[in-house]
Amino acid sequence: MLESQINKLFSLPELKFTNKRNLTNHIIQFDAYKFSKFEVCPKCATKTTKIHDQVYVHIKDVPIRDKIVYLRIRKRRFRCQNCNAVFREPVPGIRKGFRSTQRFRSHIRWCASNFTDLKRVTTKLRCSSWLVYKAFYEQLSLEAKKMNYEWPKTIGIDEHSFIRNTKTHYKEFATVFVDFNNNRVREVTLGRSFDSLMSSRAIDIKGRENVKNVVIDMSSTYQKFVKSHFPNAKITSDKFHVIKLFNHALNKIRIETMKHPIFLKSKTSPMRRLYLTRDDRLSFSQRSIVKHINGLFPELEEIYKFKERMLSIYNIRGFKRAKKALTKLTDEMAHSGRKAVQSLRRTLVKWRIEILNYFKTGITNAKTEGYNRKAKLIQRKAYGYRNFENYRLRLLYDCR
Ligand SMILES: [Zn+2]
Repeated sequence: MLESQINKLFSLPELKFTNKRNLTNHIIQFDAYKFSKFEVCPKCATKTTKIHDQVYVHIKDVPIRDKIVYLRIRKRRFRCQNCNAVFREPVPGIRKGFRSTQRFRSHIRWCASNFTDLKRVTTKLRCSSWLVYKAFYEQLSLEAKKMNYEWPKTIGIDEHSFIRNTKTHYKEFATVFVDFNNNRVREVTLGRSFDSLMSSRAIDIKGRENVKNVVIDMSSTYQKFVKSHFPNAKITSDKFHVIKLFNHALNKIRIETMKHPIFLKSKTSPMRRLYLTRDDRLSFSQRSIVKHINGLFPELEEIYKFKERMLSIYNIRGFKRAKKALTKLTDEMAHSGRKAVQSLRRTLVKWRIEILNYFKTGITNAKTEGYNRKAKLIQRKAYGYRNFENYRLRLLYDCR
């Protein structure tokens, strides 16, 4: 092969390749040396040509046709004529003190993120699991550093559980900031309290005045955080979580109702499904069952109707019409004497502006919930993380 082609293949332009040997059936070794005329002293930055001695180093590179590749590089040691220091010549593409090329380390990253488990990576690349671990997270942090752009226009914030704290035995949570404009996870921080958010990495990201829309679930901590950190943001309450509130209240009353002796006692009740499905998706016979039971239990019927009303509000197009409908709903709820309805109404009134913002922006937190799902998968694939920093790097890398 032509020399220039070999150089292109290795893309280490400063090296000259001299020889190739098969050490075993699986290992190839290439001999190489650097041909520069002078080197610059790392201590005083003076040019020097005086060679002290030379050493041979063995550097691991990306496999060729499933064969392990070693580069045996002759490295000269120079003596600085100015400060008398002795130093080895550096080779671009191989970091100082490392026994593998940068290319090999980024190849480890590719394998570790695409293979199903670490064992396969170590057998394929014939290296220790420690090297895989170290090189993988080193490369991920390099990738994460590349991502330093400003806050986008629209973001979504949500939390998911991370690990159980071994000391307090409480579950710890991670908060994700999803960039809706570029469809990726922008930042992950540990904890969901206001103080932990205010001291997190999310604060360091520049351009917080760019953010115009933020979607959150109905958590007052996130509301407080968004109001204090994103001055121009309009908060939208996630549609799914509003409906969830209604379903939760309905389910509670349904369980109470089903203690009545006319119901059969069974653990998997078809009633649950019937009451969680929205009215227009029920079949004719299902709807008549619901109607019949509602006729027997007025408290169940009341909250069922409120739930259906809320669902139909989300079908309304136009902010003004939706506002009118929501006002009507909360007014009617005020007349109810039931505790569950009253507490529901209080939440609706408290989050009124945020709920109505949906009819202006039309965004939901579906993307964020999708990334939460992915985060859970990553945790499961690794059988849980203990180190939050590693988890963060992995999540940022996989959700981009
Ligand atoms: Zn020097």
